Amino acid sequence: MAGINAATKLIDNKFDGKIIILDMGKDPHKRLPSEVMTGMLGAGGWSDGKLTYHTAIGGQLSKYCGEDKAMELMDQVITNFKRFHPKPEEVQCSNPVAEPDFIKPQFGLRLFPVWHVGTDYLLEIAKNWYQYLVDNGVCFEWETKVYDIDFDNKFISAKDNNQQEVRSSYDELIFGVGKSGIDFGKSLAEQYNLPTEPKSVQIGVRFEAPQKHFQKLIDVSYDFKLYRKFDDKGVSLRSFCTNNNAAYVAVEETYGNYSYNGHAKKDEKYRNDMTNFGIIMELNGIEDPFTWSRDLVKKLQVEGKGLYYSPTRTPSLTSEGDNVSAFQIDSTDMDEVREIFEGYFSYIDSFIDGMIEIFPTLKDDWGMYIPEVKYLSPEPLVDYTNLALTKYPNVHFVGDALSARGITVSGAQGIYVAEDILDKQRIVRIFTDKTYSIK
Ligand SMILES: Cc1cc2nc3c(=O)[nH]c(=O)nc-3n(C[C@H](O)[C@H](O)[C@H](O)COP(=O)(O)OP(=O)(O)OC[C@H]3O[C@@H](n4cnc5c(N)ncnc54)[C@H](O)[C@@H]3O)c2cc1C
Repeated sequence: MAGINAATKLIDNKFDGKIIILDMGKDPHKRLPSEVMTGMLGAGGWSDGKLTYHTAIGGQLSKYCGEDKAMELMDQVITNFKRFHPKPEEVQCSNPVAEPDFIKPQFGLRLFPVWHVGTDYLLEIAKNWYQYLVDNGVCFEWETKVYDIDFDNKFISAKDNNQQEVRSSYDELIFGVGKSGIDFGKSLAEQYNLPTEPKSVQIGVRFEAPQKHFQKLIDVSYDFKLYRKFDDKGVSLRSFCTNNNAAYVAVEETYGNYSYNGHAKKDEKYRNDMTNFGIIMELNGIEDPFTWSRDLVKKLQVEGKGLYYSPTRTPSLTSEGDNVSAFQIDSTDMDEVREIFEGYFSYIDSFIDGMIEIFPTLKDDWGMYIPEVKYLSPEPLVDYTNLALTKYPNVHFVGDALSARGITVSGAQGIYVAEDILDKQRIVRIFTDKTYSIK
């Protein structure tokens, strides 16, 4: 996403250098629907294509360039999608109404516009966009996995799908490997000892209840995002990734431990009329957040599983009909959990109490799977004006490899870097143009 938006910006502005895109995935003609993470249009651009349009959603953008510039960059990404869309008039923006009054005593509800590209059109968009870039001289090397980058000598090493070496030097490098390249980004950060931004801890529980209790809110906002903020304590909480109708809790095994997440099925035959969502706390100011989270998750395992607590319910079934794998604990065990959380669990308790107050039928009819965790990869420290590494000014980190979590923000970061490269080119032109004289 970041890469092709950057390349498009460069092409549109008559960049006179050579652009090479190395990607371990496939071109849009060969890429299979099941290849979710890699290839032309990146991750969500291939499967979902929802373009969020707000600076508070989808990761960091305005932090680098300010609010107005961020919106302008996101506009450019949306324009690109429309431009290569076979029916641009069908790209629609949904802009939810104001927060409903009944939630206000307890929560804020984050509402934001989303442009819906339409999943049925993503393949055609990918092909049209690809053709435009190829026709304008961009050189794609598909199924080519970069395994090493020598930042000091400006050199890339990769292997193609026949295990043949592919090598290339570069003047400017845009590093946009997305989630599928997160480990590669991490290993480069360690190898080059790159300074990083301080990160927060993101941990909580996966909450589950019959959907009927939340229907009033779901009618206003399907994927509702309730939030609470305690700025003075460096703590904020939000509901995260809401699933409805055919909603299932899933085990995630990371670093050998269980944590929980959720997903929804589209097929009616899976309908279970349940709702699940994460209640995620963002904790700032914890030294070494990664180790802290991992230690906490380790302590929340019994008999090799995560935990389940409910005042009245038992764990529900997975979409395959098995029990969600979790060790059920009682209210006495919950006190131990609260201790393990070093006091932070009181925020989750109070979030649930708040929901019980505004959704009066909820009462004790809920359960929670403990823990849900988001291990954030270290974010390399960059020059905010062009997203270049502070140690290597010609290496730009963009998209999910930096601090993005969505299509629009990733694409916008790519365009932001391209604008900087175009500016540099202009400066070089001025100094190499013999007819130009400085007065
Ligand atoms: C299933 C799914 C659905 C999503 N839906 C949405 C949505 O609807 N809306 C939204 O805003 N966001 C969505 N997202 C998130 C969004 O897709 C990403 O935030 C965005 O694509 C990130 O852009 P990027 O440029 O950083 O990386 P990507 O778009 O993921 O592109 C990275 C590319 O780098 C390549 N690559 C990785 N490592 C290497 C390597 N070592 N060598 C060579 N190539 C490499 C990959 O093949 C890939 O093509 C979704 C994500 C997923 C997984």
